[in-house]
Amino acid sequence: MEKRNVKEFSEHMKTYQWTVVGAGPAGIAAVGKLLDLGIPPATIAWVDPLFQVGDLGEKWRLVSSNTKVSLFHKYLHHCKSFRYGAAPDFTLNHLHPDKTCLLDEIAKPLQWVSNHLFEAVNTFKTTVRALVLENQVWKVKTEQEVFGSQNVILAIGAEPKQLNYPNLKVIPLEVALRELPPLTGETVGVFGASHSAIIILQRLLETSAKKVINFYNSPLKFAVYLKDWILFDNTGLKGEAAVWARKNIHGKHPDRLERVRISDPHFQKHLATCQSVIYAVGFEKRRPPETPQIADLVYNEFNGIIAPGLFGLGIAFPQKTEDPFRNVEYNVGLWKFMAYLESVLPIWMQYGP
Ligand SMILES: Cc1cc2nc3c(=O)[nH]c(=O)nc-3n(C[C@H](O)[C@H](O)[C@H](O)COP(=O)(O)OP(=O)(O)OC[C@H]3O[C@@H](n4cnc5c(N)ncnc54)[C@H](O)[C@@H]3O)c2cc1C
Repeated sequence: MEKRNVKEFSEHMKTYQWTVVGAGPAGIAAVGKLLDLGIPPATIAWVDPLFQVGDLGEKWRLVSSNTKVSLFHKYLHHCKSFRYGAAPDFTLNHLHPDKTCLLDEIAKPLQWVSNHLFEAVNTFKTTVRALVLENQVWKVKTEQEVFGSQNVILAIGAEPKQLNYPNLKVIPLEVALRELPPLTGETVGVFGASHSAIIILQRLLETSAKKVINFYNSPLKFAVYLKDWILFDNTGLKGEAAVWARKNIHGKHPDRLERVRISDPHFQKHLATCQSVIYAVGFEKRRPPETPQIADLVYNEFNGIIAPGLFGLGIAFPQKTEDPFRNVEYNVGLWKFMAYLESVLPIWMQYGP
Protein backbone atom coordinates (compact mmCIF):
# COMPACT_ATOMS: atom_id res chain seq x y z
CA MET A 1 0.00 0.00 0.00
CA GLU A 2 1.95 3.04 -1.22
CA LYS A 3 0.14 6.25 -0.39
CA ARG A 4 3.19 8.24 0.59
CA ASN A 5 2.38 11.10 -1.78
CA VAL A 6 2.98 13.71 0.89
CA LYS A 7 5.05 16.86 1.00
CA GLU A 8 8.73 16.16 0.36
CA PHE A 9 10.84 17.19 3.34
CA SER A 10 14.12 16.64 1.56
CA GLU A 11 15.17 14.68 -1.46
CA HIS A 12 15.29 11.52 0.58
CA MET A 13 12.71 11.88 3.31
CA LYS A 14 8.91 12.04 3.11
CA THR A 15 7.14 14.20 5.66
CA TYR A 16 3.68 13.50 7.02
CA GLN A 17 1.43 15.97 8.78
CA TRP A 18 0.72 13.59 11.65
CA THR A 19 2.30 10.37 12.92
CA VAL A 20 0.51 8.23 15.49
CA VAL A 21 2.79 5.80 17.34
CA GLY A 22 0.86 2.84 18.77
CA ALA A 23 -2.28 1.01 17.64
CA GLY A 24 -3.93 0.26 20.96
CA PRO A 25 -7.29 1.85 21.83
CA ALA A 26 -5.63 5.28 22.23
CA GLY A 27 -3.80 5.16 18.89
CA ILE A 28 -6.96 3.95 17.13
CA ALA A 29 -8.91 6.87 18.65
CA ALA A 30 -6.19 9.33 17.56
CA VAL A 31 -6.22 8.17 13.93
CA GLY A 32 -10.03 8.22 13.88
CA LYS A 33 -10.29 11.73 15.33
CA LEU A 34 -7.61 13.14 12.98
CA LEU A 35 -9.61 11.80 10.03
CA ASP A 36 -12.84 13.20 11.50
CA LEU A 37 -11.17 16.60 11.71
CA GLY A 38 -10.45 16.49 7.99
CA ILE A 39 -6.74 15.62 8.02
CA PRO A 40 -6.20 13.87 4.65
CA PRO A 41 -5.50 10.14 5.18
CA ALA A 42 -2.48 10.29 2.84
CA THR A 43 -0.79 12.74 5.25
CA ILE A 44 -1.15 10.48 8.31
CA ALA A 45 1.44 7.84 9.25
CA TRP A 46 0.60 5.12 11.78
CA VAL A 47 3.24 2.89 13.38
CA ASP A 48 2.85 -0.27 15.48
CA PRO A 49 4.69 -3.59 15.38
CA LEU A 50 1.47 -5.64 15.24
CA PHE A 51 -1.74 -3.60 14.79
CA GLN A 52 -3.61 -6.00 17.07
CA VAL A 53 -5.33 -3.50 19.39
CA GLY A 54 -2.34 -3.11 21.71
CA ASP A 55 -2.29 -4.77 25.10
CA LEU A 56 -6.06 -4.94 25.28
CA GLY A 57 -6.08 -7.13 22.15
CA GLU A 58 -2.99 -9.13 23.03
CA LYS A 59 -3.11 -9.60 26.80
CA TRP A 60 -6.36 -8.60 28.48
CA ARG A 61 -9.10 -10.24 26.38
CA LEU A 62 -10.08 -12.72 29.10
CA VAL A 63 -10.40 -10.06 31.83
CA SER A 64 -13.81 -8.79 32.84
CA SER A 65 -14.16 -5.07 32.16
CA ASN A 66 -14.43 -2.47 34.88
CA THR A 67 -16.48 -0.10 32.73
CA LYS A 68 -19.99 -0.67 31.47
CA VAL A 69 -20.79 -1.84 27.96
CA SER A 70 -22.45 1.54 27.23
CA LEU A 71 -19.06 3.31 27.41
CA PHE A 72 -17.61 0.94 24.80
CA HIS A 73 -20.61 1.76 22.55
CA LYS A 74 -19.97 5.46 23.11
CA TYR A 75 -16.32 5.08 22.09
CA LEU A 76 -17.17 3.11 18.93
CA HIS A 77 -19.98 5.42 17.78
CA HIS A 78 -18.24 8.71 18.58
CA CYS A 79 -15.84 8.72 15.63
CA LYS A 80 -17.41 9.00 12.18
CA SER A 81 -14.27 7.57 10.56
CA PHE A 82 -14.66 4.34 12.56
CA ARG A 83 -17.72 3.64 10.32
CA TYR A 84 -19.07 1.45 13.08
CA GLY A 85 -22.51 1.53 11.46
CA ALA A 86 -21.07 -0.63 8.66
CA ALA A 87 -19.44 -3.13 11.04
CA PRO A 88 -20.56 -6.76 11.44
CA ASP A 89 -23.12 -7.32 14.18
CA PHE A 90 -20.71 -7.94 17.09
CA THR A 91 -21.88 -9.62 20.32
CA LEU A 92 -21.09 -6.33 22.10
CA ASN A 93 -24.14 -4.76 20.39
CA HIS A 94 -26.41 -7.25 22.18
CA LEU A 95 -25.01 -6.96 25.69
CA HIS A 96 -26.85 -5.02 28.38
CA PRO A 97 -25.48 -1.45 28.33
CA ASP A 98 -25.35 -1.26 32.14
CA LYS A 99 -23.42 -4.51 32.58
CA THR A 100 -19.71 -5.22 32.29
CA CYS A 101 -18.29 -7.80 29.85
CA LEU A 102 -15.12 -9.66 28.92
CA LEU A 103 -12.67 -7.25 27.27
CA ASP A 104 -12.67 -9.67 24.31
CA GLU A 105 -16.11 -8.29 23.41
CA ILE A 106 -14.65 -4.80 22.81
CA ALA A 107 -11.35 -6.11 21.38
CA LYS A 108 -13.18 -7.71 18.43
CA PRO A 109 -14.91 -4.53 17.15
CA LEU A 110 -11.71 -2.57 17.84
CA GLN A 111 -9.77 -4.96 15.63
CA TRP A 112 -12.35 -4.42 12.88
CA VAL A 113 -12.00 -0.62 13.20
CA SER A 114 -8.20 -0.89 13.31
CA ASN A 115 -8.17 -3.03 10.15
CA HIS A 116 -10.06 -0.53 8.05
CA LEU A 117 -8.16 2.51 9.38
CA PHE A 118 -5.00 0.52 8.55
CA GLU A 119 -6.11 0.49 4.93
CA ALA A 120 -6.93 4.21 4.91
CA VAL A 121 -3.69 5.79 6.20
CA ASN A 122 0.05 5.07 5.71
CA THR A 123 0.96 2.21 8.00
CA PHE A 124 4.35 0.96 9.18
CA LYS A 125 4.52 -2.42 10.94
CA THR A 126 7.55 -1.65 13.02
CA THR A 127 8.77 0.11 16.17
CA VAL A 128 9.78 3.76 16.47
CA ARG A 129 13.27 3.87 17.95
CA ALA A 130 13.95 7.63 18.11
CA LEU A 131 12.42 11.06 17.53
CA VAL A 132 14.65 13.99 16.71
CA LEU A 133 13.52 17.54 15.94
CA GLU A 134 15.30 19.00 12.91
CA ASN A 135 14.31 21.96 10.72
CA GLN A 136 10.92 22.20 12.45
CA VAL A 137 10.12 18.59 11.61
CA TRP A 138 10.25 15.48 13.79
CA LYS A 139 12.52 12.85 12.27
CA VAL A 140 10.82 9.55 13.06
CA LYS A 141 13.40 6.75 13.09
CA THR A 142 11.86 3.30 12.88
CA GLU A 143 13.68 -0.03 12.75
CA GLN A 144 13.53 0.02 8.95
CA GLU A 145 13.37 3.62 7.80
CA VAL A 146 13.34 7.30 8.67
CA PHE A 147 10.60 9.73 7.76
CA GLY A 148 9.54 13.21 8.79
CA SER A 149 6.41 14.31 10.61
CA GLN A 150 5.17 17.75 11.55
CA ASN A 151 3.38 16.32 14.58
CA VAL A 152 3.70 13.07 16.51
CA ILE A 153 1.20 11.51 18.92
CA LEU A 154 2.75 8.94 21.24
CA ALA A 155 0.19 6.31 22.32
CA ILE A 156 2.73 3.69 23.36
CA GLY A 157 0.95 2.08 26.29
CA ALA A 158 2.21 0.91 29.67
CA GLU A 159 3.74 -2.12 31.37
CA PRO A 160 2.74 -3.64 34.71
CA LYS A 161 4.91 -2.28 37.55
CA GLN A 162 7.25 -4.78 39.16
CA LEU A 163 8.40 -5.17 42.76
CA ASN A 164 11.67 -6.80 43.67
CA TYR A 165 11.26 -9.35 46.43
CA PRO A 166 14.12 -11.83 45.97
CA ASN A 167 14.05 -15.64 45.58
CA LEU A 168 10.45 -15.89 44.45
CA LYS A 169 9.03 -17.18 41.19
CA VAL A 170 7.18 -14.25 39.58
CA ILE A 171 4.06 -15.04 37.56
CA PRO A 172 3.69 -12.14 35.07
CA LEU A 173 0.44 -10.20 35.36
CA GLU A 174 -0.63 -11.02 31.79
CA VAL A 175 -0.16 -14.75 32.47
CA ALA A 176 -2.12 -14.52 35.72
CA LEU A 177 -4.96 -12.72 33.92
CA ARG A 178 -4.95 -15.08 30.94
CA GLU A 179 -4.24 -18.62 32.12
CA LEU A 180 -2.69 -19.50 35.46
CA PRO A 181 -0.05 -22.26 35.43
CA PRO A 182 -0.62 -25.36 37.62
CA LEU A 183 0.02 -24.26 41.22
CA THR A 184 -0.81 -27.47 43.08
CA GLY A 185 0.29 -27.32 46.69
CA GLU A 186 1.87 -23.85 46.35
CA THR A 187 1.33 -20.77 48.46
CA VAL A 188 0.93 -17.80 46.13
CA GLY A 189 1.31 -14.17 47.12
CA VAL A 190 -0.67 -11.47 45.29
CA PHE A 191 0.43 -7.87 45.76
CA GLY A 192 -2.19 -5.15 45.28
CA ALA A 193 -5.86 -4.40 45.79
CA SER A 194 -6.78 -3.17 42.33
CA HIS A 195 -9.28 -4.54 39.80
CA SER A 196 -6.61 -6.92 38.44
CA ALA A 197 -5.54 -8.08 41.91
CA ILE A 198 -9.10 -8.96 42.89
CA ILE A 199 -9.72 -10.88 39.66
CA ILE A 200 -6.49 -12.83 40.23
CA LEU A 201 -7.42 -13.69 43.84
CA GLN A 202 -10.74 -14.98 42.61
CA ARG A 203 -9.07 -17.13 39.92
CA LEU A 204 -6.35 -18.45 42.23
CA LEU A 205 -8.95 -19.73 44.66
CA GLU A 206 -10.39 -21.80 41.80
CA THR A 207 -6.99 -23.56 41.30
CA SER A 208 -5.41 -26.19 43.53
CA ALA A 209 -3.04 -23.67 45.16
CA LYS A 210 -2.61 -24.54 48.84
CA LYS A 211 -3.01 -20.97 50.04
CA VAL A 212 -3.35 -17.47 48.62
CA ILE A 213 -1.97 -14.47 50.53
CA ASN A 214 -3.02 -10.99 49.47
CA PHE A 215 -0.39 -8.41 50.44
CA TYR A 216 -1.91 -4.94 50.51
CA ASN A 217 -1.17 -1.38 51.54
CA SER A 218 -4.45 0.44 51.97
CA PRO A 219 -8.17 -0.35 52.38
CA LEU A 220 -10.14 -1.49 49.36
CA LYS A 221 -11.64 1.34 47.33
CA PHE A 222 -15.01 1.11 45.58
CA ALA A 223 -16.36 3.32 42.80
CA VAL A 224 -19.63 5.09 43.66
CA TYR A 225 -21.98 6.00 40.80
CA LEU A 226 -23.51 9.43 41.45
CA LYS A 227 -25.88 11.46 39.28
CA ASP A 228 -23.37 12.82 36.78
CA TRP A 229 -20.00 11.64 38.02
CA ILE A 230 -18.33 8.63 39.62
CA LEU A 231 -16.42 8.81 42.89
CA PHE A 232 -13.09 6.89 42.58
CA ASP A 233 -13.84 6.39 38.90
CA ASN A 234 -10.29 5.31 37.99
CA THR A 235 -9.13 3.73 41.21
CA GLY A 236 -12.22 2.15 42.78
CA LEU A 237 -13.41 -1.41 42.26
CA LYS A 238 -16.34 -1.80 39.89
CA GLY A 239 -18.45 -4.55 38.35
CA GLU A 240 -17.90 -8.20 39.22
CA ALA A 241 -14.61 -7.51 40.99
CA ALA A 242 -16.40 -5.14 43.41
CA VAL A 243 -19.15 -7.68 44.10
CA TRP A 244 -16.61 -10.44 44.74
CA ALA A 245 -14.43 -8.25 46.98
CA ARG A 246 -17.36 -7.14 49.15
CA LYS A 247 -18.51 -10.71 49.63
CA ASN A 248 -15.14 -12.43 50.11
CA ILE A 249 -12.82 -9.81 51.54
CA HIS A 250 -15.17 -7.62 53.55
CA GLY A 251 -17.38 -10.64 54.22
CA LYS A 252 -16.23 -14.12 55.10
CA HIS A 253 -12.73 -14.90 53.79
CA PRO A 254 -12.61 -18.14 51.78
CA ASP A 255 -10.65 -20.80 53.75
CA ARG A 256 -7.47 -20.59 51.68
CA LEU A 257 -7.31 -16.77 51.52
CA GLU A 258 -5.28 -14.68 53.94
CA ARG A 259 -4.67 -10.91 53.84
CA VAL A 260 -1.52 -9.31 55.20
CA ARG A 261 -0.71 -5.61 55.31
CA ILE A 262 2.72 -4.80 53.92
CA SER A 263 3.51 -2.83 57.09
CA ASP A 264 2.57 -5.83 59.26
CA PRO A 265 5.59 -6.71 61.47
CA HIS A 266 5.25 -10.35 60.30
CA PHE A 267 5.11 -9.45 56.59
CA GLN A 268 8.50 -11.05 55.79
CA LYS A 269 7.53 -14.25 57.61
CA HIS A 270 4.34 -14.52 55.52
CA LEU A 271 6.20 -13.74 52.33
CA ALA A 272 8.72 -16.49 53.10
CA THR A 273 5.89 -19.06 52.95
CA CYS A 274 5.16 -18.16 49.29
CA GLN A 275 6.64 -20.04 46.35
CA SER A 276 5.22 -17.69 43.68
CA VAL A 277 4.14 -14.06 43.58
CA ILE A 278 2.04 -11.92 41.28
CA TYR A 279 2.48 -8.15 41.23
CA ALA A 280 -0.81 -6.36 40.46
CA VAL A 281 0.33 -2.94 41.63
CA GLY A 282 -0.39 -0.64 38.70
CA PHE A 283 1.22 0.33 35.42
CA GLU A 284 4.05 2.55 34.22
CA LYS A 285 4.78 4.11 30.84
CA ARG A 286 6.34 1.64 28.37
CA ARG A 287 9.94 2.46 27.37
CA PRO A 288 9.48 5.30 24.90
CA PRO A 289 11.48 6.00 21.74
CA GLU A 290 14.70 7.88 22.39
CA THR A 291 14.26 11.65 22.38
CA PRO A 292 17.76 13.09 22.84
CA GLN A 293 16.38 16.65 23.03
CA ILE A 294 13.83 15.92 25.79
CA ALA A 295 14.62 14.50 29.21
CA ASP A 296 12.33 11.72 30.49
CA LEU A 297 9.48 12.64 28.12
CA VAL A 298 7.77 14.74 30.76
CA TYR A 299 4.26 15.71 29.63
CA ASN A 300 1.73 18.32 30.66
CA GLU A 301 -0.77 16.23 32.64
CA PHE A 302 -3.72 18.45 31.71
CA ASN A 303 -3.26 18.71 27.93
CA GLY A 304 -0.80 15.99 26.89
CA ILE A 305 1.79 18.37 25.40
CA ILE A 306 5.34 17.01 25.62
CA ALA A 307 6.97 19.52 23.25
CA PRO A 308 5.84 21.52 20.21
CA GLY A 309 4.48 18.93 17.78
CA LEU A 310 4.91 16.05 20.24
CA PHE A 311 1.96 14.85 22.30
CA GLY A 312 1.16 11.98 24.68
CA LEU A 313 -2.07 9.99 24.83
CA GLY A 314 -3.49 6.85 26.41
CA ILE A 315 -2.44 4.90 29.46
CA ALA A 316 1.20 6.05 29.07
CA PHE A 317 0.27 9.75 29.35
CA PRO A 318 -3.07 9.87 31.17
CA GLN A 319 -4.97 13.07 31.80
CA LYS A 320 -4.92 14.30 35.40
CA THR A 321 -8.40 15.06 36.73
CA GLU A 322 -9.99 16.36 39.90
CA ASP A 323 -13.44 15.29 41.07
CA PRO A 324 -15.88 17.65 42.85
CA PHE A 325 -14.24 16.67 46.17
CA ARG A 326 -10.79 17.47 44.78
CA ASN A 327 -9.64 13.84 44.67
CA VAL A 328 -6.95 13.69 42.03
CA GLU A 329 -6.90 10.73 39.64
CA TYR A 330 -5.48 9.85 36.22
CA ASN A 331 -8.06 9.09 33.54
CA VAL A 332 -7.60 5.68 31.97
CA GLY A 333 -10.20 3.98 29.78
CA LEU A 334 -11.35 3.91 26.19
CA TRP A 335 -14.09 6.50 26.40
CA LYS A 336 -11.88 8.77 28.50
CA PHE A 337 -9.15 8.73 25.83
CA MET A 338 -11.75 9.71 23.21
CA ALA A 339 -13.29 12.51 25.30
CA TYR A 340 -9.82 13.83 26.13
CA LEU A 341 -8.84 13.89 22.44
CA GLU A 342 -11.98 15.87 21.71
CA SER A 343 -10.73 18.64 23.99
CA VAL A 344 -6.97 18.55 23.30
CA LEU A 345 -6.75 17.89 19.54
CA PRO A 346 -7.83 21.45 18.60
CA ILE A 347 -4.94 22.69 20.77
CA TRP A 348 -2.45 20.16 19.43
CA MET A 349 -3.33 21.24 15.88
CA GLN A 350 -2.04 24.72 16.67
CA TYR A 351 1.03 23.67 18.62
CA GLY A 352 3.48 22.54 15.94
CA PRO A 353 7.25 23.04 16.11
C1 LIG B 1 -6.95 -5.62 33.62
C2 LIG B 1 -7.41 -4.43 32.86
C3 LIG B 1 -8.77 -4.13 32.73
C4 LIG B 1 -9.18 -3.01 32.02
N1 LIG B 1 -10.51 -2.74 31.89
C5 LIG B 1 -10.92 -1.68 31.16
C6 LIG B 1 -12.29 -1.40 30.98
O1 LIG B 1 -13.15 -2.10 31.47
N2 LIG B 1 -12.65 -0.32 30.26
C7 LIG B 1 -11.73 0.51 29.71
O2 LIG B 1 -12.12 1.48 29.05
N3 LIG B 1 -10.42 0.28 29.87
C8 LIG B 1 -10.00 -0.80 30.59
N4 LIG B 1 -8.68 -1.04 30.78
C9 LIG B 1 -7.72 -0.03 30.33
C10 LIG B 1 -7.40 -0.22 28.88
O3 LIG B 1 -7.33 -1.55 28.50
C11 LIG B 1 -6.04 0.41 28.64
O4 LIG B 1 -6.01 1.64 29.24
C12 LIG B 1 -5.82 0.58 27.17
O5 LIG B 1 -5.80 -0.66 26.53
C13 LIG B 1 -4.53 1.32 26.94
O6 LIG B 1 -4.50 1.64 25.60
P1 LIG B 1 -3.26 2.36 24.95
O7 LIG B 1 -3.60 2.46 23.52
O8 LIG B 1 -2.90 3.56 25.72
O9 LIG B 1 -2.02 1.34 25.16
P2 LIG B 1 -1.77 -0.13 24.61
O10 LIG B 1 -3.01 -0.90 24.47
O11 LIG B 1 -0.70 -0.73 25.46
O12 LIG B 1 -1.20 0.11 23.14
C14 LIG B 1 0.06 0.66 22.92
C15 LIG B 1 0.57 0.18 21.54
O13 LIG B 1 1.72 0.93 21.21
C16 LIG B 1 2.71 0.07 20.66
N5 LIG B 1 4.02 0.67 20.84
C17 LIG B 1 4.67 0.90 22.00
N6 LIG B 1 5.86 1.49 21.77
C18 LIG B 1 5.96 1.64 20.42
C19 LIG B 1 6.96 2.17 19.58
N7 LIG B 1 8.09 2.68 20.06
N8 LIG B 1 6.76 2.14 18.23
C20 LIG B 1 5.59 1.63 17.72
N9 LIG B 1 4.60 1.13 18.50
C21 LIG B 1 4.79 1.13 19.83
C22 LIG B 1 2.52 -1.22 21.45
O14 LIG B 1 3.10 -2.31 20.76
C23 LIG B 1 0.99 -1.28 21.54
O15 LIG B 1 0.46 -1.95 20.41
C24 LIG B 1 -8.23 -2.15 31.46
C25 LIG B 1 -6.87 -2.44 31.58
C26 LIG B 1 -6.46 -3.58 32.27
C27 LIG B 1 -5.00 -3.87 32.39
